[in-house]
Amino acid sequence: MRQPIRLATCLALIAAVCAPTAPAWSSAADPGAGTGTTKDSAKASAATAKKTEKTKKAQQVDCAKVKCIALTFDDGPGKRVGALLDTLKKHNVKATFFLEGQYVKARPELAKRIAKEGHQLGNHSYRHPDFTKIKESEIKSEIVRTQELVHKLTGKYPTTLRPPYGLYNDQVQEVAKELGLPIVLWNTASHDWASRDQKAIYREVLKGARRDSVVLMHDWVDATVDVMPRLLTALKKKGFHVVTVDTLVRGRTKLQPGEVWPEDATIDSSDSPLVPYQH
Ligand SMILES: [Zn+2]
Repeated sequence: MRQPIRLATCLALIAAVCAPTAPAWSSAADPGAGTGTTKDSAKASAATAKKTEKTKKAQQVDCAKVKCIALTFDDGPGKRVGALLDTLKKHNVKATFFLEGQYVKARPELAKRIAKEGHQLGNHSYRHPDFTKIKESEIKSEIVRTQELVHKLTGKYPTTLRPPYGLYNDQVQEVAKELGLPIVLWNTASHDWASRDQKAIYREVLKGARRDSVVLMHDWVDATVDVMPRLLTALKKKGFHVVTVDTLVRGRTKLQPGEVWPEDATIDSSDSPLVPYQH
């Protein structure tokens, strides 16, 4: 029985995706996806082990029991992501970075640092096209190129997809499903790209912050990087644990390939820039 099903599935897919049956980054192919580095290097040093332990502890927050919020940063790595990472480290919090292939290529060291410091990696295409306006083969290529590049540099595959501008249709969902990636959007927008103003970003995020919010931000916006220390302090004061998307859903739901999450995702055209910003 197994063979015909596999064959049927493969016939529906493009040949490149079918060999191997599941993409290397899908949970079916690699249950350890996301922790690949430990697996890859047989001789993990004691220091690395210690760091991993620290990361694990930070991720052990149970969002079913405590108030959590996920900050997500799109389009990076931005030029100043280093300063942002310093702030996140200082506050001992993890975030999710939806990386854009072209900037991963331009700033490989920053991409490596994001991964090394235990943040979650997401795929935000290679060049940021509107996925609802390009061909299926182009959507695939945008995603796969980024998957491979991020893996080559960091040893980890992004585990979720955020299509540019949050725009998707049936075809995008179909491709995401084939490639084993859930579609992660947001339900709180900071409008940081539009205001570029620390006070406005601070106000918008705190206004929209609810338990389990997924906040959209951009790490190429200077004001976002600059307001982060104050913002993290304020969120903590309000009782929030700032976590990755993985931690937010852990133990409560398993995001399925092609599924759009969160359920209350509200995409407004002012949430993200309508034209790609070169940064
Ligand atoms: Zn974007």
